[in-house]
Amino acid sequence: MGFFKKFECGYCGMKFKSENDLTEHGRMHLYGHHEHFTCVTCGALFHSKSELAQHGKNHK
Ligand SMILES: [Zn+2]
Ligand SMILES: [Zn+2]
Repeated sequence: MGFFKKFECGYCGMKFKSENDLTEHGRMHLYGHHEHFTCVTCGALFHSKSELAQHGKNHK
């Protein structure tokens, strides 16, 4: 219980296991990358349409 602190992105709610990952991720928000693409099947969030398309292949 609680060995891993959850680091959550304040912009899009994505969760990371380490602060480093979150910091890395946060950079794309700093560069104005605010668009989000949500998978309607499982609710996963992606920052690009191509990532979402790639992910969608797992569902079918
Ligand atoms: Zn984010
Ligand atoms: Zn999905």
